[in-house]
Amino acid sequence: MSIQQNLKNLKSTIPEHVTLVAVSKTKPISDLMEAYNAGQRVFGENKIQEMVDKYQDMPKDVEWHMIGHVQRNKVKHMAEFVSLIHGVDNLKLLKEINKQGKIHDRVIACLLQIKIASEDSKFGMSPDEASEILQSNAFSELQHIKVIGVMGMATFTDDMNQIEKEFTLLKTSFDKFRIQNSEFKIISMGMSGDYQLAIDCGSNMIRVGSSIFGERNYN
Ligand SMILES: *Cc1c(COP(=O)(O)O)cnc(C)c1O
Repeated sequence: MSIQQNLKNLKSTIPEHVTLVAVSKTKPISDLMEAYNAGQRVFGENKIQEMVDKYQDMPKDVEWHMIGHVQRNKVKHMAEFVSLIHGVDNLKLLKEINKQGKIHDRVIACLLQIKIASEDSKFGMSPDEASEILQSNAFSELQHIKVIGVMGMATFTDDMNQIEKEFTLLKTSFDKFRIQNSEFKIISMGMSGDYQLAIDCGSNMIRVGSSIFGERNYN
């Protein structure tokens, strides 16, 4: 099926209050433009250089989300234009994003990535670590970032019960953080295989790639 048709089908299954991030990593500009021409404006990439290249080639009203692991020394390349950084998992990184935000005279929106999966390979911090950062003086001094929610990735498994538990943990953490942080509004969870369940568990931002653009080829 065409990208346009995939998008249309997907959109018909998600409620109005859920933001769809079209994950276009590894895909060519022609594919992104097909989604763009179908009305999609929010795109997610997991490599900073690839996102910068695509930013230069795409229309300027696209919102770019960095959904991958962020290396501190590369923040400067996206600081001028990135709309939301999903994968922030330590204070040092927040400080660097703040520094680059200051240079570009803007406030950069971030999500704290919480480790909810049981696998070792997934990045993120524990809810306690996140809570500690949010309450620290160092954090309160950062004027050029705003943390507006959380992001998480469930374990890669067919066990829907386990995935549900992990999504629920993220939602519970979000609810706790929001009590003290009025800016909190986003729960980024759910991908092609589990976005329905994620929405049922409280997600309001899903990151969907292969269901829109087809399988990725990493060769
Ligand atoms: C690739 C990726 C996605 C999208 O995965 P699909 O299964 O293709 O929908 C979502 N989130 C992150 C962090 C990713 O790296």
